[in-house]
Amino acid sequence: MKKLWSNLAEELVPYQPGEQTTNENIIKLNTNENPFPPSEHVINAIKTCNLESLSLYPDHDVTELKKELSNYHNVEKHNIFVGNGSDEILAFSWQAFWNPEDVIAFPEITYNFYKVYCDLYRVKSEMIPLTADFKINTAAILNDVKGIIFPNPNAPTGRFLPIIEIEEILKKHTNKVVIIDEAYIDFGGVSCIELINRYDNLLVIRTFSKSRSLAGLRIGYAVGDHHLIQALNTIRYSFNPYSVDYVGMKAAIASIQDDQTFRSNCQAIVEIRRATIQKLESLGCHVIPSMTNFILFSHPVLNGSIIYEKLKHKNILVRHFDTPKIQNYLRVSIGSETQMNAFISSLTELI
Ligand code: PMP
Repeated sequence: MKKLWSNLAEELVPYQPGEQTTNENIIKLNTNENPFPPSEHVINAIKTCNLESLSLYPDHDVTELKKELSNYHNVEKHNIFVGNGSDEILAFSWQAFWNPEDVIAFPEITYNFYKVYCDLYRVKSEMIPLTADFKINTAAILNDVKGIIFPNPNAPTGRFLPIIEIEEILKKHTNKVVIIDEAYIDFGGVSCIELINRYDNLLVIRTFSKSRSLAGLRIGYAVGDHHLIQALNTIRYSFNPYSVDYVGMKAAIASIQDDQTFRSNCQAIVEIRRATIQKLESLGCHVIPSMTNFILFSHPVLNGSIIYEKLKHKNILVRHFDTPKIQNYLRVSIGSETQMNAFISSLTELI
């Protein structure tokens, strides 16, 4: 067929999401979803949505949710941006903060989408090296980059960088936007949101997809200086002002209001993670310290891709990345206690 699409559409290598399945026999531990359903409070909020109002466009300012989040984080409403999942906010950030041909820095092993956004928006990237034990080597960030971004804790390593090291970066790189992607912060890390009042170049991005069990509703938000938020708004209003829907907003508000369920679910996941790490180590696996709802591990003899295939054969889906330095590793999301027991017993059998 004759070529009817752009060079970009022809050349881009898009992000590869983890496999999704409707097969209920599969134990799905490959996309860092939360094993707990949304809380009763959230489900009630969805059930009591005014469905007749679905004929209207949602509030493009997402005012009610911004108010809730500004109380929760003790910041002003103009310090908050809400988007359709944190992926959308990340994409807007590339457009809001960096020009084509700018060079930005992110870790050599990190969330794969960062490289895809660089290709999509023609931004260049410089890798921040990791130490042998997968810690981000912040001292190696070059001075002449136009921006810095990484998840904290990092993905798919799970390693957390203390807030003091983030402050060092902010002090050293005052003339560039530093984005901290806190998708996994609620599983034991300490947020750097409080730093936004002192550093006008810091943007913190969060999601309701992991710790708040709402991946299906696509809600994310960012917190930062109001000038950064304004730049994001300019991009959003030039793309799709209605990217956050009415039902998603109501559910997100209810989730913030139900702090107790949120905290106890996060605590349960941390506890299941601790027990799983112990079992993996007793099987002889090498485990990277994790502050997330997943664990990156390897086995001294069995290759990562072989374990991946064998687990899949036993209806257990984990994630294998064909990325240098972690080819021999697997990432397993923290599921329910029952799911993790099934994972460990299958792994024990095949080892
Ligand atoms: N950042 C990181 C580090 C992630 O792992 C993910 C989930 N794949 C996201 C952002 C995007 O999350 P969402 O779009 O569901 O908010």
